[in-house]
Amino acid sequence: MGKQVIVVGGGAAGMMAAGQASACGAEVILIEKMKRLGSKIAISGKGRCNLTNAGDIADFTRYYPGNGKFLYASLKEFDNQALMEFFQKYGVKTKIERGGRVFPEADDSEVIVKALKEFLEKTGVKLILEQAVERIITDEERVTGLQLKQSKEVLPAGAVIVATGGASFPGTGSTGDGYAMAEELGHKVIRPLPALVPLRTLEQWPKELQGLTLKNVSASIWIEGKKKAEEFGEMLFTHFGISGPIILTLSRIASHALSLQQKVEIRINLKPALTFEQLDLRIQRDFAKYQNKQLKNALDDLLPKSMIPVMVHLSQIDPEKIINQVSKEERKRLCRLLQELQLHITATLGMGVAIVTSGGIDVKQINPATMESRLIKGLFLAGEVIDIDGVTGGYNLQAAFSTGFKAGKAAAHYVHTTV
Ligand SMILES: Cc1cc2nc3c(=O)[nH]c(=O)nc-3n(C[C@H](O)[C@H](O)[C@H](O)COP(=O)(O)OP(=O)(O)OC[C@H]3O[C@@H](n4cnc5c(N)ncnc54)[C@H](O)[C@@H]3O)c2cc1C
Repeated sequence: MGKQVIVVGGGAAGMMAAGQASACGAEVILIEKMKRLGSKIAISGKGRCNLTNAGDIADFTRYYPGNGKFLYASLKEFDNQALMEFFQKYGVKTKIERGGRVFPEADDSEVIVKALKEFLEKTGVKLILEQAVERIITDEERVTGLQLKQSKEVLPAGAVIVATGGASFPGTGSTGDGYAMAEELGHKVIRPLPALVPLRTLEQWPKELQGLTLKNVSASIWIEGKKKAEEFGEMLFTHFGISGPIILTLSRIASHALSLQQKVEIRINLKPALTFEQLDLRIQRDFAKYQNKQLKNALDDLLPKSMIPVMVHLSQIDPEKIINQVSKEERKRLCRLLQELQLHITATLGMGVAIVTSGGIDVKQINPATMESRLIKGLFLAGEVIDIDGVTGGYNLQAAFSTGFKAGKAAAHYVHTTV
């Protein structure tokens, strides 16, 4: 019994770890506190599961603003191709979409959960559902077992893999339990913060534009007046502020700065392909064409219809002003506004809706070659519970699968050779 591996958490990392440990010859129990396995996988990619990215694996670490380098060894051992082949073995065909995003051909994340369940069944993993693990038991320096929360029952274990996920989207079961387990054993937990999360604005006007998507715009993030990053692509206005791909990418920086009470601004450039002078010339051409119209009726070629009243209001030019009476200074003001639409960020939308958690168990205390804790022998960590986070595009699930694979293999080896 003491030789068994217990995996805590039946998400992407935990299921991969459990199946892998079992495939490597260990006796494995997987404990999941929810009724079902893989709740987060099920809702991932809007129910379609963007399981990985088809890009060159050598470039992958760049897509993890949170500790990409730590993932080098696990991504190398179990890369995107290996992951796709793994699912193919379980009958899941995949397809590649925009930006290298890989989805199941069936457009249904449940086929991914089903494949992982089959993997667990085939490798003989014992499942315990609807039981939360409370704490891990050690004899000071090595794992000896764990305790269940409700029954207080103690299960002996030669190795434990903690794969409890982050603290975001807690409705799926990931409520940050692994942080407390690791902290109790002396690990440092880097403050968990929401990332890939929509942003609230001080300004109320985004509400008037809710539902409007802007394509081919750029957004830059400014912390305490200094530009930190810029993204080009698609964004969305909402009743609370802003969202959409480029905003989600920038949100990690916003989240960290807000946690330090720093001033956060997003500046949107609606015409990023043009220089200020080119845009001014373009507006002059439009103004020549519509010279006898009122300003509010002269911007149709330049802006989505619903944006016109908002932009005219922000430009502080009288909307009824006839175009040929708009001064050069007013025109330039409008021009500047189009390229630097400023929004003050007051908060993120929080952990409840964040796609990923930035922060978690400090990577310095984990051996990246095995995922074993450097403090406690026989304790392995995998997935989002670790202080790693990627951008959108399939990188977060790949990280969970790769670290899970490595932890499973290393835990099996550990119980065979050490316990
Ligand atoms: C809405 C949404 C969409 C997403 N879409 C994508 C996408 O398309 N592509 C992508 O790459 N990433 C996506 N992500 C991120 C990705 O899903 C996660 O990074 C990934 O699932 C993390 O896997 P994990 O196994 O580490 O943790 P989780 O999937 O969170 O699994 C942790 C498991 O542990 C269980 N658990 C927690 N505490 C205990 C305990 N005490 N005892 C027992 N069990 C416990 C939980 O119930 C849960 O099942 C998305 C996330 C969200 C929220």
